[in-house]
Amino acid sequence: MFGVPIALVSLVDENRQWFKSCIGLDAGETSRDVSFCGHAILGDGVFIIPNALEDNRFADNPLVLGDPKIRFYAGCPLCLNGHKLGTLCILDQKPRSFEKDDIEALKDLASMVERELAAVQLATLDELTNISNRRGFMVLAQHSLNLCARQKIPAALVFLDLDKFKPINDKYGHAVGDRVLVTFASQMKSSFRNSDVFARLGGDEFVVLLSNTSKEQAEEIMVRFNRSLKEINQQANRGYAVTFSYGIVESNPEKYTAIDELLVNGDTLMYEVKRAKR
Ligand code: GH3
Ligand code: MG
Repeated sequence: MFGVPIALVSLVDENRQWFKSCIGLDAGETSRDVSFCGHAILGDGVFIIPNALEDNRFADNPLVLGDPKIRFYAGCPLCLNGHKLGTLCILDQKPRSFEKDDIEALKDLASMVERELAAVQLATLDELTNISNRRGFMVLAQHSLNLCARQKIPAALVFLDLDKFKPINDKYGHAVGDRVLVTFASQMKSSFRNSDVFARLGGDEFVVLLSNTSKEQAEEIMVRFNRSLKEINQQANRGYAVTFSYGIVESNPEKYTAIDELLVNGDTLMYEVKRAKR
């Protein structure tokens, strides 16, 4: 469409840019310092560099001076929920001009990418709590588990279910119940590490996969999580306390375990704990 040798979808994080769908480049990532896309996501429109050698922001850029010897860049920011995640961009090794029609065409393609990103998010996020749903968890957790298995490090899955949640719904109403679920999810968000994968599986069931964590360490983490939940209960002083039961299963780094198996075992263990409480 544009007659360029390089086209890609990039995602930009704090320090790096990642090339996802990518044609014409070998690199999978670069640091953000040298990134064109890092500039592109700061604006709202299409970011255009007709000739990088004549632009003092890019003339000494290693991607300009060395391979892939970028001269021309045009990138359209990709937005999701008001956040700019990266760009759809095209690059050339010779200088080019980019006219109004080209800009409109690139914007159209970028909005198709945005729709795909939004569809993935819709399918993998829990609408109420805004954390992953079961489908999102299965994909992310399997990925994380594979990585742990490859690096021969342990991972622990914790299956959680709120205790006596139905009575809260019955006594205080569904909206209050919803609020309890949202608070619980945000407590998970602030307690677990960035590298952990957590989700609401459905109803009042939650799960977290703690990577590089043994069963004993997971136990400590849950004691801390429980303590922070207790503090919230005390501060809120609502007439009811949110408590939960959990089961921890460890994925043995020597033996591969599929995520569904961990989930089933975690659920069974959690239920035994819950029954013992009763
Ligand atoms: P237990 O102590 O044995 O776990 O019992 P429980 O009362 O917590 O009830 P259980 O886990 O068996 O069932 C979960 C309940 O959560 C059933 C349903 O009424 C309620 N629930 C499920 N989804 C939602 C939701 O989205 N919002 C609200 N407010 N309640 C929900
Ligand atoms: Mg429950």
